[in-house]
Amino acid sequence: MLWPYITLASAAAAGVSYAGYAAMAPASQLYGRTLTHGSDPSQMALTFDDGPNDPHTMHLLDVLARHNARATFFLIGKYVRQRPDIARAILAAGHEIGNHTDSHPNLILVSAARLRQELESCSKSLEDAMGKRVTLFRPPFGGRRPNVLRTARGMGLSPVMWSVTGYDWSAKSADKIVEKVSRQVDSRNKAQAEIVLLHDGGHLAFGTDRGYTVEATRKLLDHFSARKFVTVSGLS
Ligand SMILES: [Zn+2]
Repeated sequence: MLWPYITLASAAAAGVSYAGYAAMAPASQLYGRTLTHGSDPSQMALTFDDGPNDPHTMHLLDVLARHNARATFFLIGKYVRQRPDIARAILAAGHEIGNHTDSHPNLILVSAARLRQELESCSKSLEDAMGKRVTLFRPPFGGRRPNVLRTARGMGLSPVMWSVTGYDWSAKSADKIVEKVSRQVDSRNKAQAEIVLLHDGGHLAFGTDRGYTVEATRKLLDHFSARKFVTVSGLS
């Protein structure tokens, strides 16, 4: 789940510093390069955060399988320990899995020791569940600072942000999510592959209802059927 977006104008009005804005804005490169999109406009990468979640992650796997689409799931370590079988099912279905920390803190606010522990515990839980190390990492709330990125890279984790957000954590319907994603994709110059931020879980509680996201994903796969849905590592 993401903090409400802060626009430059509202950040300035609220007296929020540019550095504060840059730490939370998905496309900001001020603190080092992070992946926000791919280069081939015929591709699209759906990403789902805050799982594994029951039953919504499995419902999503059904929807993706019906469209022969691949996606990327950024999992929370403590939920992986709760349901390692769901992490294995995601991997077995051909999708990619990344580290979304162990307990979903804002990494801007934690100590260096806690930062390492959050990343390592999540990676270890994923390795225990799946038998392999993950190489992708998405910071909770999009929050990052140079030390966050440096530490993650030092642990073999590449930071992944996004170019389009579904705002599905507060959506009132599946159609609203589809509308928000479609509008952002259509407003682009169509010269890049979008990385779309969605959620199959909720960081506040296991079992958070993501029925709207599952339904919106089904509709997005239909709406953008001309695109090839790939994992983040599958972006060219
Ligand atoms: Zn999250």
